[in-house]
Amino acid sequence: MWLTSKLKQVVMALKPGVVTLKYPLEPRPVPSAYRGQPSWDHHKCIGCGGCAAHCPARTIMTRDICQEIRIMVYDGSRCTYCGRCADVCPEDAITMTDKFELATENKADITLTMELFMATCKRCGRCYEHETRNAIDRMSLKGYRYDNLEVRAVIPVSTEHLDAELLEKTEKYKRPEKIGE
Ligand code: SF4
Ligand code: SF4
Repeated sequence: MWLTSKLKQVVMALKPGVVTLKYPLEPRPVPSAYRGQPSWDHHKCIGCGGCAAHCPARTIMTRDICQEIRIMVYDGSRCTYCGRCADVCPEDAITMTDKFELATENKADITLTMELFMATCKRCGRCYEHETRNAIDRMSLKGYRYDNLEVRAVIPVSTEHLDAELLEKTEKYKRPEKIGE
């Protein structure tokens, strides 16, 4: 009786065949519209900061080192792959890729840093508003945010001022024409 019952169980288990996936030995294509690791095209990015402002995980940081250069850092360790950054980007510079095997011991593997050339307004020097009323003060502030890139912390309102010496050094800065230049 016991044996018959066990044999029945074996037959039942064998009937559907193998139902588990052979992943990772046989990788499966992800579904269309899958949201994996976001990827930035720095040639399209205008540095508006929209992705940084809307990222719910606060994982995109921005810092202006002078009037012309904005650094943007994506720290993938906090990314939830929600795709909000790609949705809000006005230049379609962000693509949600199908990459999901992102486990790593080195945070640098999932960190992206972009150095962007920012065209400045010929009249005022800066094109965006700050929470200060003095126009002269506004011109010398480092962007709308001045995030702490070292500890990956968002600082909502910049209180840091541009470094006149650094600004002079970067006057000859030219945006790279090709990736990797
Ligand atoms: S996918 Fe979501 S969490 Fe990740 S960087 Fe974009 S907005 Fe932030
Ligand atoms: S929203 Fe798009 S254009 Fe604006 S900073 Fe982000 S990637 Fe660049």
